[in-house]
Amino acid sequence: MRGGSNLPAVGSYNRSVLLAAIRDAGLASRVDLVAATGLTAPTVGRIVRGLIDDGLVTEVGPGDSRGGKPRTMLRLESGARTAVGVHVDPEATTYVVTDLSGKVLARSRRVHRGRRRSAGRDHEVEADVQPDVELLGDDIEALIAQREPDWGEVLGVGVATPGPIDFRAGVVLTPPNLPGWHRLPLRDRLADRLGLPVLLDNDATVAALGEQWVGSASSVRNFAVIYLGTGIGSGIMIDGQPYRGSSSNAGEIGHVSLDVEGPECFCGNRGCLELYSAPRVIVAEALERLTEHPDSPLRLRGLSVSADHARICAAARAGDPYAASLVQRSARYLALGAVTLVNVLDLELVVLAGPGFDGVGPLYVEAMRTELDRRALVRSRHPVEVRLSPIAQDVVAVGAASLVMHSRLVQAQPVIAQP
Ligand SMILES: [Zn+2]
Repeated sequence: MRGGSNLPAVGSYNRSVLLAAIRDAGLASRVDLVAATGLTAPTVGRIVRGLIDDGLVTEVGPGDSRGGKPRTMLRLESGARTAVGVHVDPEATTYVVTDLSGKVLARSRRVHRGRRRSAGRDHEVEADVQPDVELLGDDIEALIAQREPDWGEVLGVGVATPGPIDFRAGVVLTPPNLPGWHRLPLRDRLADRLGLPVLLDNDATVAALGEQWVGSASSVRNFAVIYLGTGIGSGIMIDGQPYRGSSSNAGEIGHVSLDVEGPECFCGNRGCLELYSAPRVIVAEALERLTEHPDSPLRLRGLSVSADHARICAAARAGDPYAASLVQRSARYLALGAVTLVNVLDLELVVLAGPGFDGVGPLYVEAMRTELDRRALVRSRHPVEVRLSPIAQDVVAVGAASLVMHSRLVQAQPVIAQP
């Protein structure tokens, strides 16, 4: 259970602490909440009154009196509000509608993978996802149209894209993996298209918000999510709040240099973590060197990074030593990135999320635990836990919906686009 803070400046944080505490308990009295959060009784009483007035929490009759006055119990009204979360990724766009507890009520996915015919055969190819705001709007409306009678009010739409972005202006800047989307004022255009409030944030930051709102980190104040997708990013929560830096582009762990003499990266740095650990690097290495390993049953097609990466992970899981060595090498480098992140930020927890961990997550967790035990400066002071995200593939879409909940229900959010 997260502890609250009794300082007035952190009122919005306390609201999220109490929402999480009531959700986690199922049923809780005000006295239970004081004990669980460390907040004072007047603070709990005031925030709970606000939550009841907003219809987010209801009183459900007296609970166990334990010999004294019967206590009124509180319950989260999970269905009272819904939010749409959208994850735009080079591979696919994922859409979810969640309720207040983060439960996914509806989901859809548009895969940006085409087929190409050459040499008389069909090939799987990766297509550039085009910045089609109309299509995004159509997909979101189709999902909302599945609305059940018990769905609560749709609070808005959270959209997550790879960075860099301009969080305040709601503009996608220059993500290297989304070349058609550069300088796109996505937030305002989508808000105009839908007539709903829209928020834009970067994928790793919302993954961290999702882990706090519904995932494995609701009780942890200082943690990071390492997101392994097409690139490598991290979302950082400090004292229970997302750490965005000055322009919401913090956490670019993929561009921490591990070798000053290493190969040049597109970012201008040399020897970046991404150049050793990203799925495309694992696949490129395998395509180049596979013939040197005739005993390996691994077969690659060289047409789609994600499809070939999945083949390497499946072979590693099945016990192919060559495929396992490729994944372990990536895991070791990523673990060094995690050590840097933990050393800089003094974190309690690292959560691993994203499609890059599919099926091979335990290998990465093991490598990370080993390196943190061996190298993290804080290891003698406190443990640093490593977990796989329980939200798995949908973590960014669920996180984008959590961003809306967090912004609309927990804090007054100045960067939301109102239609
Ligand atoms: Zn770089």
